[in-house]
Amino acid sequence: MSDRDDRVAGALLGVHAGDSLGATLEFMDWQAVRERYPDGLREIVGGGAFDWPAGAPTDDTDLTRAVLLAYLDTARDPSAVVVRCAAEHMLDWFEGRWPGRVEGTTPRDVGGATERGLSRYRESGDPLQAGAGRGQAGNGSLMRCIPTALFQPDVGLRAREAMLVSAITHDDARCTVACAAYVEVAAALVDGAAPGAALAAGEGVVRAVGPTAQGTPPQHDARATDEVLAAIAAGRGLRLPDLVALGPDQAFPRFGGYVLTALTLAVVALLDPRPFAEVLADVVRLGGDADTNGAIAGGLLGARDGLGALPGAWLERLHLRDEFLAAARTLQEPPAGP
Ligand SMILES: [Mg+2]
Repeated sequence: MSDRDDRVAGALLGVHAGDSLGATLEFMDWQAVRERYPDGLREIVGGGAFDWPAGAPTDDTDLTRAVLLAYLDTARDPSAVVVRCAAEHMLDWFEGRWPGRVEGTTPRDVGGATERGLSRYRESGDPLQAGAGRGQAGNGSLMRCIPTALFQPDVGLRAREAMLVSAITHDDARCTVACAAYVEVAAALVDGAAPGAALAAGEGVVRAVGPTAQGTPPQHDARATDEVLAAIAAGRGLRLPDLVALGPDQAFPRFGGYVLTALTLAVVALLDPRPFAEVLADVVRLGGDADTNGAIAGGLLGARDGLGALPGAWLERLHLRDEFLAAARTLQEPPAGP
């Protein structure tokens, strides 16, 4: 595997690993995690609020899979449109047509904006007429956006696609712009940029997707640009060991499901020089929306450190490991010649 291929695979499985590690701690607060796991949770063991089997995909990994499947569709059929394909796969997941789950059963855990946005998509049949609306600024699109970073090489299309795929469910501009930023950071990392340079690339995209940018969802507004830049800046100013020692309430409030908190935490994680597993264990031991925070941070850490940095014992447990690796291989093959 080339270095770049290793980082692409690391990014995809980093999302899965963070999701599956954090699922055990979802909804626990920092204090409860501290009492139960004084040294942090360092194995993928399942359980948690939804009684997950160890290594099972939760909504974070499943919806990342939906976006990944959309890129596979476009690789097979050049006339396919990523945003529409992604919306269809997300609806399949929502309605129980989903490989690996008993046919017809609904997912165990669905975020509020995801439910509302996909319900609107089901009614309109148009991914541009979906979305939960302004004011719904959860982390549910940030957690699934990394395939665009890995498989859309055109920088202009990348930001646009990231925003439109977000807007299927999360069309609030804080979410769409956060996804554009995150995707650019991840793309720079897999191309070999250092974390600081990758963050600068993400900030550049945030400034570029101004309120009049063509193809951006209607809810885009200039204030979101400032808020997303502030979230990245906040991440530069925090240290993960301090958050773990002091608890998020003292050091930084709201490790709940807010998109910009998740983005800040991912930046904090990315700038932490320790190895992948140590950083990710600290992200999820903050509790709260631990699986989604883990997925979002895990994607950037995997893009930074590559697949080789993920512990073998974790990889063995990830239910979608082989599928994600095969998809990454397929999507990185050079196009067939004439
Ligand atoms: Mg989840």
